Amino acid sequence: MSATAESVIYLDNNATTRVDPQVFDAMMPWLRDEYGNPSSVYGLGKRAADALSVARTQVASLIGASDEEIIFTSCGSESINSSILSAAAVDPDKQHIITTAVEHSATIKLCEYLARRGYEITWLPVNSVGQVDLEKLDKAIRPDTALVTMLWANNETGVLFPIHDVARITAAKKVALHVDAVQAAGKVPFNVSELGVQFMSLSGHKIHSPKGVGALYVNRRTRYTPWLRGSQEHARRGGTQNVASIVGMGKAAEIAAAHLSDDSLRGLRDRFETAILETVPGTDINGDRLNRLSNTASICFEGIESEAALMMLDERGLCCSAGSACTSGSVHPSHVLKAMGFSNERARSSLRFSLGRFTTAEEIGKAVKIVPEVIAKLRALSPPGPVVMAA
Ligand code: PLP
Repeated sequence: MSATAESVIYLDNNATTRVDPQVFDAMMPWLRDEYGNPSSVYGLGKRAADALSVARTQVASLIGASDEEIIFTSCGSESINSSILSAAAVDPDKQHIITTAVEHSATIKLCEYLARRGYEITWLPVNSVGQVDLEKLDKAIRPDTALVTMLWANNETGVLFPIHDVARITAAKKVALHVDAVQAAGKVPFNVSELGVQFMSLSGHKIHSPKGVGALYVNRRTRYTPWLRGSQEHARRGGTQNVASIVGMGKAAEIAAAHLSDDSLRGLRDRFETAILETVPGTDINGDRLNRLSNTASICFEGIESEAALMMLDERGLCCSAGSACTSGSVHPSHVLKAMGFSNERARSSLRFSLGRFTTAEEIGKAVKIVPEVIAKLRALSPPGPVVMAA
């Protein structure tokens, strides 16, 4: 039987995070007594509108934006879709979009859809440590490029793209840039105004607020056309706002901002990684070890099937992710690890461990015992075939 939420060692914070108790407390009044519609003019509605304003300031402050540059959405994926579709809609003659081979599915699926509608998509490759080539980006930009869209921190490997350099290139070429900062915001300190990007996507559930709430930054000088039409959010995103969750995201942003300079997660992650590499033979880190989120460890364990490892780790009360995804009964190796030039075997034998603010040293102490035991058990069940460590 798998462990309860209380006893589990949760090392999957890039998938989602637990709601911070302070966030939960901040949300409660807006679920219980304060049920007003923020568009209503009476006191009950006005208080909800005021709560949205506070949350807008909190989210804006986390990334260095102005309040009016923040649009609340239902998730990071909606923010991504809205940015890309807006860039396409404001200049319909520009039918070229540049992105990378290692994006989140929200970007990939939308770009594939646009490609079917006649858009040309340039998928920039990455090298063996998951980094993008800026010269290739520079060369790919054309007069008909509507948008460059890239994630900042990769959800699978934690690899950080050099977004400051990317923004310099797009600014010089006067091309709009959308940054998927879903994994970076709250983990990497930055000021979006100084960065000079046009769009940025954020998600609540990666920063200890609930699922189903996100935000989109649109630079105040950027032309924007909404995808979900209606009167709310100054007619930039239709739909009555999810007040409680937005209040939660605001509180979570405020707490994340207060913790931005705290690098203690890096110490725990490094302790975990070093222990695993030292005690388990046939292991290697996936991705750029220097330019990486401090909470993420993507590790290849030679000769194992990650799906089987996930199940055995779950039985031992440890949650993490696989370098593969199971769709319709078959296991697909991760497109991110494949784009880095890894074999299917290496992609299928990789596990992602991602720490969060609630991860404790005690949990890491347990994890560095559990993981080697599970890997040894798995390898005993099916001894490794040929060495697959090389890219
Ligand atoms: N972008 C990245 C890099 C992500 O990791 C995720 C979520 O896993 C998303 C976008 C989508 O965010 P949401 O789950 O809020 O739609």
